[in-house]
Amino acid sequence: MQNRFLNRAKNWRWYTFSQEDVAECLPDLVRHNAESLCLANAMAVLAVIVLCLYPGNDTINYPPSFLIAVIEVAICRFVTVLRRKSLLNARLVNMMAALSFVLALVNGYYVLAAGHIWLAVNWFLIFFVAFQIIFIYNFIVVVLVDVILAVFFWFFVRGYTNAVEYLPFEISYVGYVCVIAAAFTWVSNRRLISEMVVRNRYHRESVRDQLTGLGNRRNFEQSVGFYTSVCRRIHQTVCVIMLDVDFFKRYNDTYLHVKGDEVLKAIGRVLEELSESEHVFAARVGGEEFIVLWTENRIAEAKRVARKLRQNVIDLKIPHETSPVAPYVTVSIGLYVMRGGSQDTSEALYENADMALYRAKEQGRDRIVLHDSADGSFREVLPLPFELNVGRR
Ligand code: GH3
Ligand code: MG
Ligand code: MG
Repeated sequence: MQNRFLNRAKNWRWYTFSQEDVAECLPDLVRHNAESLCLANAMAVLAVIVLCLYPGNDTINYPPSFLIAVIEVAICRFVTVLRRKSLLNARLVNMMAALSFVLALVNGYYVLAAGHIWLAVNWFLIFFVAFQIIFIYNFIVVVLVDVILAVFFWFFVRGYTNAVEYLPFEISYVGYVCVIAAAFTWVSNRRLISEMVVRNRYHRESVRDQLTGLGNRRNFEQSVGFYTSVCRRIHQTVCVIMLDVDFFKRYNDTYLHVKGDEVLKAIGRVLEELSESEHVFAARVGGEEFIVLWTENRIAEAKRVARKLRQNVIDLKIPHETSPVAPYVTVSIGLYVMRGGSQDTSEALYENADMALYRAKEQGRDRIVLHDSADGSFREVLPLPFELNVGRR
């Protein structure tokens, strides 16, 4: 029973979005919520202070709404200071919003029970108007309406209704502010999340290669600028691997394109594993061409990554009958090391890696050629003696 209840509670969603969706935009959402709540509450507190100072208001009581607003601001400030960037826990903010709604309900009930029908009608009208305004998604408008409401109540409602003195006016006002803040938070959060979910999904899809799940050419072009600037500014060596499947046209001709796609997927998985274990960026930039980017100052380490990649593809042992170099699918690798401080542009980086790949093809395929920006040389990176090239003829 308890477990069922707990599971239900866990699965309950605030916004009808999945937890992952919400988690993805949490940093923005949290900042957004914290800002709007802090602002609304700061206004409420200010209003209460002003109202308490209003001449003729002989009973200065501290209504619960005032306390709640103060507590909310205190929590917001405390967590903001304590956790700097992450600001607030979204659940906490939502709890505050829910609290404000309860408060608004209590206020509405109080107004009705006290027999102030006109006020109650006003309450709902304003509630409705606030919602309309909130849909426009402009917080400044909400703040302006708040101010107008305050002035309106101050001069007119207080003056015309005698019974208002029995009504804790402060509660009403803070209630309004809280309702507006809560409604704003609620509605704009929904908008924010849906916008961000769509944007994130669109962005993720637009930089992903559908066949392999790796980054695509666009993703590479977006990332490569970062690597070249790292190389230039903080004198880090950037390593680039261009990988091309050997005799892949023949593979397609022999085994048909569906099988060819399977090969690309398998190589994609090898690259994905490599990107996880070696913390490198990997993308598919052409039909059967892949690129790997990472920073590494030790050339021996760069060679190790290239060797590992080549060996892992060989280890797949995908039969390739018509390949003149091996009975298995092999790859040619061009490794370009762009030394720290090099002024190479992103295009030059790509070209130089491509030149290294071209050499590897020219020298007979199924090999690694290293192109060093230090002296412009091209050297073959030979397999280590303990590497078993089972497929090699
Ligand atoms: P080389 O060793 O010189 O690289 O020879 P190659 O046959 O691999 O090179 P080439 O550029 O002549 O042919 C590349 C082939 O890759 C042509 C095309 O049939 C195949 N290809 C490109 N994209 C895809 C794809 O998405 N799926 C499949 N199955 N094949 C593809
Ligand atoms: Mg090829
Ligand atoms: Mg090719």
